[in-house]
Amino acid sequence: MTGSRDTTVRDRLHRPLQSMRISVTDRCNMRCRYCMPEAEYVWLPRDQILTFEEIARLARVFAELGVTKLRLTGGEPLLRHELPTLVRLLRADERIRDLALTTNGILLARHAAALRDAGLRRVTVSLDTLRADRMQGFARSPRHADVLAGIGAAQAVGFERLKLNSVIVRGYNDDELVDLLAFAHDHDAELRFIEYMDVGGATQWAIDRVVSQQEMLDRLGHHFGAITPITGDDPHAPAERFSLPDGTTFGIVASTTAPFCAACDRSRLTADGQWFLCLYAGRGIDLREPLRSGASDAELTGIIRSAWTARDDRGAEDRLRVSERAPLYPVDGLRADPHREMHTRGG
Ligand code: SF4
Repeated sequence: MTGSRDTTVRDRLHRPLQSMRISVTDRCNMRCRYCMPEAEYVWLPRDQILTFEEIARLARVFAELGVTKLRLTGGEPLLRHELPTLVRLLRADERIRDLALTTNGILLARHAAALRDAGLRRVTVSLDTLRADRMQGFARSPRHADVLAGIGAAQAVGFERLKLNSVIVRGYNDDELVDLLAFAHDHDAELRFIEYMDVGGATQWAIDRVVSQQEMLDRLGHHFGAITPITGDDPHAPAERFSLPDGTTFGIVASTTAPFCAACDRSRLTADGQWFLCLYAGRGIDLREPLRSGASDAELTGIIRSAWTARDDRGAEDRLRVSERAPLYPVDGLRADPHREMHTRGG
């Protein structure tokens, strides 16, 4: 590279430290069966949750090492009070070129305008079904209308990009592929179908419940006609994108059957400051302790740099080699350490 200083830190597989998911709370107001199917959970202690200033300081340190993309997640991130304040703090760093939010949408109508005013440009809303009765049964939430209102509000306030995420589970919503695509198209949104994953709290996962990327493409092709892969996208993006004959575009995140670990530039910071180098990693790196015990930016940079340069995680690819695939953790394994939960790791 000439003319500019490349500060990007790379891991042992030459993958850059570039993209982060920052969880701002482990709490959620839904109980999706692929994420939080149990009756009770162990929550992170409140005094261990990072303040906005602590999150923003870590984000600056990460940006110094090459991170340019942040996505705020939870749990449900809109359960964290005053989230626009954090958006403003993060937007103040010009090195963060892309700041996005993933939400289940229930509270989005209430907060969309304030988030937009604070500088948030991109929003992804989880929408697994267009049927309220299905959401009640599958996610134990009666608030389907609020989710739709949230999507409408996001469209109305004019985020630059609106995406919808649908986790596809056989026997639950795999008959809605076509309808979900039509809904997204009508709301100026791009849909991402996500394969059902065996990670975190997915204690009811079974391989026969997974609808693979190939099966989704076959079904959609049968309905719409030839589907064309889109080339030239960001090589680190988790979704492969496709277009229908009418030009409608959509993505599929094939984490279970065709993982993309080779290009993974993503890590996750939990709400209590544990940094996970892979969604499947057994342990995180504690950044809260040094942060709160007075570590300098240089010391934090050193911890992060040495961890990333030693990274060789390929969690989803490793799972492909497991012959009798079952949920990664049984319930008691999740209770023993809530950091194993998807809703704590930020999905
Ligand atoms: S399993 Fe780990 S290495 Fe693979 S894409 Fe997911 S976070 Fe990245």
